Amino acid sequence: MKLYSTNHQVPEVNLKEAVFKGLPDDNGLYMPENIPTLPASFFENIDTLSFQDIAFEVCKALIGDEVPEKEIRSIVDDVLTFDAPVVKVENNIYVLELFHGPTLAFKDFGARFMARLMSYFLQKEKKDIMILVATSGDTGSAVAQGFLDKAGIKVTILYPSKKVSDLQEKQLTTLGKNITALEVLGTFDDCQRMVKQAFLDKEITSKINLSSANSINISRLIPQSFYYFYAYAQAKKLGKKVVFSVPSGNFGNICAGLIAKKMGLPIDMFVASTNANDIMPKYINTGVFEAKPSVATISNAMDVGNPSNYPRVIELYGKDINALRKDVVGKAYTDEETAAAVKSVYKATGYVMDPHGAVGYLGLKEYFEESGKDATGIFLATAHPAKFIEVVNDIIEKDVEIPAQLKELINKKQESIVIENDFEKLKSFLLTAL
Ligand SMILES: *Cc1c(COP(=O)(O)O)cnc(C)c1O
Repeated sequence: MKLYSTNHQVPEVNLKEAVFKGLPDDNGLYMPENIPTLPASFFENIDTLSFQDIAFEVCKALIGDEVPEKEIRSIVDDVLTFDAPVVKVENNIYVLELFHGPTLAFKDFGARFMARLMSYFLQKEKKDIMILVATSGDTGSAVAQGFLDKAGIKVTILYPSKKVSDLQEKQLTTLGKNITALEVLGTFDDCQRMVKQAFLDKEITSKINLSSANSINISRLIPQSFYYFYAYAQAKKLGKKVVFSVPSGNFGNICAGLIAKKMGLPIDMFVASTNANDIMPKYINTGVFEAKPSVATISNAMDVGNPSNYPRVIELYGKDINALRKDVVGKAYTDEETAAAVKSVYKATGYVMDPHGAVGYLGLKEYFEESGKDATGIFLATAHPAKFIEVVNDIIEKDVEIPAQLKELINKKQESIVIENDFEKLKSFLLTAL
């Protein structure tokens, strides 16, 4: 897999280099130079294959030139130890449940795959690395879980103080061992900016082998494409066109879906659904990309004012917004609309959506209404409702059932280091944490 930078100022690299560097030196993002198309026979038989078999074929097509088949098989089997079922919610509306992993959010897919792939590459070399990651809630815990106890890897997580849910904070701060949580007195965008700056800081990078783990790392995107294929396989018997609605923040998840489409997956349309942080829907509708400070919402993992995967999304369409518009529509919703959707779907069907999934549901409904399409609509449930229990219990006026993974956390001791919203503070922490 050869990868280029979206800023085109540095040479191409292979997968291994892209995975460990995270970000190219010209501050662009790594993109595969060539996205292979899978053969028609694969799509004809896809509904007879398991999730692991589908992922193996997709993964082999993408990285098979660099990772041996046997290793791909073992990585995929280690990562996909839980299901991603497509469940009916109402007529023509289905949900792809991506929350059955250890941290109950879709980020488990990317984080587990990345940790497993890095371990494979590191086996051959004797070197230590540090994973540095900013999280708006779910990335950090998925990464921490994915890398916990992995030899030769330390993890430092930056999260915005008081802007993640109590349970998310528990998930970030209770692991210990090779995981350190930094509580930043600022927003997610501040955390993300500090992380980006660390990767560009010569003093830090000359002393520490830094690797990123948020959605800018290409190894996070690869496994996220697997479940679009698997969802399609599950929906194929319904015999209709398939529309995906993706609740979006940094636009990594939808970018993986667009890559799946490029690989030949017959997806009719994508709905990029956001909360009040509506940078991408605005861009798609007006052609103007305008980053803004993020605003806090009840779907806090999508509170992103400067979506980092924007260059990748437009790159997939040769920077042609009209080409992009043929595949993607953008929709944005307020907290009131989101809460009302959680409530009405629960009342009508008994299905409990988390606020992020609910944004995806709303996008799908609106798209069907305005297009009049008769298709199979699938929205991605990116997190389990129990991760946002305060909000969800309040809306449905009932207690959401807490899965075992979360129950265990409640009495664990939290440990974090508070730091100011200042890059120099991060730098001195990193240089002394060696
Ligand atoms: C991270 C996250 C999102 C946004 O995904 P992107 O890839 O950043 O667009 C949506 N929902 C949940 C629950 C998340 O954790």
